[in-house]
Amino acid sequence: MSKLLIVGTVAFDAIETPFGKTDKILGGAATYIGLSASKFGIKSGVVSVVGGDFPKSNLEMLQKNNIDTSGIEIKKEGKTFFWSGKYHNDLNLRDTLITELNVLADFNPIVPKAFIDAEFLMLGNLHPAVQMAVIKQMTKRPKLVALDTMNFWMDNTLDELLEVIKKVDVITINDEEARQLSGEYSLVKAAQKIHQMGPKYVVIKKGEHGALIFDSGNVFFAPALPLEEVFDPTGAGDTFAGGFMGYLTKTQNLSFNNMKNAVIYGSNLASFCVEKFGTQKMEVLTQSEIQKRLVQFKDLTQFDIQLD
Ligand code: AMP
Repeated sequence: MSKLLIVGTVAFDAIETPFGKTDKILGGAATYIGLSASKFGIKSGVVSVVGGDFPKSNLEMLQKNNIDTSGIEIKKEGKTFFWSGKYHNDLNLRDTLITELNVLADFNPIVPKAFIDAEFLMLGNLHPAVQMAVIKQMTKRPKLVALDTMNFWMDNTLDELLEVIKKVDVITINDEEARQLSGEYSLVKAAQKIHQMGPKYVVIKKGEHGALIFDSGNVFFAPALPLEEVFDPTGAGDTFAGGFMGYLTKTQNLSFNNMKNAVIYGSNLASFCVEKFGTQKMEVLTQSEIQKRLVQFKDLTQFDIQLD
């Protein structure tokens, strides 16, 4: 069975949306990626760090979802990474209110032995120096390395981030971040510029407006499923990335056609994530719900047009 190694934050989040507000709840890029990838029945493990304030029950929940947590270091004296954000009425817009790196500030990742030969590597959103340190520990180059990042790291650690971007096959990034990274407004031009930085595949996430994947000659677009209820978009991008990589780890087919399916699987899983606050929905999501919604996705995007 192929293995997926996931690096990213395991965090506390405090979130405010037009529909409600939460105190510190479980969040973090690696948490969402792991829960999403776990739906594919693959072997996955997380490398991250938390503080002594992190409840054991959260780690147990990840383990119950078949995620190996032996790479999550617990720094008893430290505090867990904390992020707080507030969404506008347009849920595609959010302001970061607080980012406290805490134990992440001087984190030295150690990849567990069982994962140093993982065939698939997902470098979730966190300090690019940590992403690079993980790449360097892999005994052989994974078949596919994907990276996700955000404006915080572009603003604060751009040079280190560009060094990691050089080394990856896929980058997943949202539209505004693609514009910031490339300096181009057009997403087509942005994708071309980002290709030149290293990644063969550029995935641009557009929230409720779907996602695009580009390679050097092809482009594919998947809409987001129109939903009746959207409570909290937090983690949707990471859930997308977890679904994308989980599907590729399971199928091991890296053709552009299969990447299109991976984008659909990622979009499908992200549509569940936003229906409840935090990780609530992803923790209990069943295979039959996933399959049912895939059919809806197919119906939404299929048409039979007569071409002359
Ligand atoms: P998303 O909504 O997919 O962009 O991801 C939201 C998650 O990213 C939250 O659970 C946060 O804990 C985490 N997060 C927020 N800011 C950062 C950051 N600068 N580095 C790493 N993870 C972050």
